[in-house]
Amino acid sequence: MKDPEILRAQHRERYHADPLLFAAPGRVNLIGEHTDYAEGFVMPAAIDFATLAAISPRSDGQVVLYAENFGEERAYTASSLPNTATGHWSDYPLGVLAILAGEGYTIPPLSLSLWGDVPLGSGLSSSASVEVATATAVLGLIGATIPGPRLARLCQRAENEFVGANCGIMDQFISANGQADHALLLDCRDLSFQLVPIPTDVALVIANTMVKHSVAGAGYTSRRASVEEACAILATHRPEIKFLRDATVADLAAWGHEIPPESLKRARHVITENDRTVAAAAALNSGDLKTLGRLMHEAHVSYSQDFEASCVEADTMVDLAQNLPGLLGARLTGGGFGGCTINLVEKDKASAFAASLGRLYQQATGITPEIHICHASDGAHAISSRLA
Ligand code: ADP
Ligand code: MG
Repeated sequence: MKDPEILRAQHRERYHADPLLFAAPGRVNLIGEHTDYAEGFVMPAAIDFATLAAISPRSDGQVVLYAENFGEERAYTASSLPNTATGHWSDYPLGVLAILAGEGYTIPPLSLSLWGDVPLGSGLSSSASVEVATATAVLGLIGATIPGPRLARLCQRAENEFVGANCGIMDQFISANGQADHALLLDCRDLSFQLVPIPTDVALVIANTMVKHSVAGAGYTSRRASVEEACAILATHRPEIKFLRDATVADLAAWGHEIPPESLKRARHVITENDRTVAAAAALNSGDLKTLGRLMHEAHVSYSQDFEASCVEADTMVDLAQNLPGLLGARLTGGGFGGCTINLVEKDKASAFAASLGRLYQQATGITPEIHICHASDGAHAISSRLA
């Protein structure tokens, strides 16, 4: 990660004020894809890519946002901040300010510099890291605290209600609540969670297919619609099924014939993925990495064939990993239709694994991937929380 002191110096030079510094990480989901909005389970880990936020007070009544990544500034009047999105990066921090204001926090005049090394739009949740970094920074500036789970909800609302992206709770939750060397099993129904240690000899190798499919947004929306359709049909038989979290493989066996074939496949992915995620947490907890790897592989096949949210490149990346020394499990991670694969790899073999996977993928697709050896990291935190 970039040295926060560089961001501090740039912020100071631009705004002639010494800032507070905060960080909020991106994340990788080990297992549990498209289960969050079904009120099911997910098991992400925060990673050592993050958005850094430098924040300082102003005396001119303005809220000034600066994105180091884009070299771009936006300025607003603190007392009348925008309440609609414009399709610009500023939507993410503005959304957080709007939600915090709606919760009764007064947003003071401030300068906020953001810089991040979470790859944008690659399924590692740069957007949640921007939201959580912004929220943490603003709360730090005004001297308020909000517990991590509630902070995550507020940031999710910023993305749902202001930005207009229909995401679940996972990304913001892990960015706010992650812990170093741990994955986090989250019950998206009641936000109860369990930290699950990742053995120190296991590396998280994240391989970016470099593919971003334009269908991703539409694909996400249509998958959600299919899942809801299947759920509504199952609920006619068992009214206690409010979300697919409440449904079982036995329900599908009994009434699946009433569900249109495509929705049936989507639902089968969600229901079996939920079971796999709980089983994967148990396997990780007991150090049974072989079972964890098998569950990750089954999750990928389900995501690719039943949910049809993979793509040729991601399937290739997962297939190529299978025969490489050190692999414990591989699958496409994130919302789908491109992005990154997550590979759990024995740490002492991770470098060789990454090099071989990169070469094989390049040969197979003609695309040079970006491959990162990551570690499970802490969630949002202050780097320096007192003005000098
Ligand atoms: P991801 O999977 O990375 O979350 P999204 O499309 O949800 O992809 O969010 C990416 C968007 O988040 C970017 O287009 C940009 O608007 C915003 N964003 C991410 N990182 C930064 C950053 N460091 N500074 C400003 N905006 C950012
Ligand atoms: Mg996002």
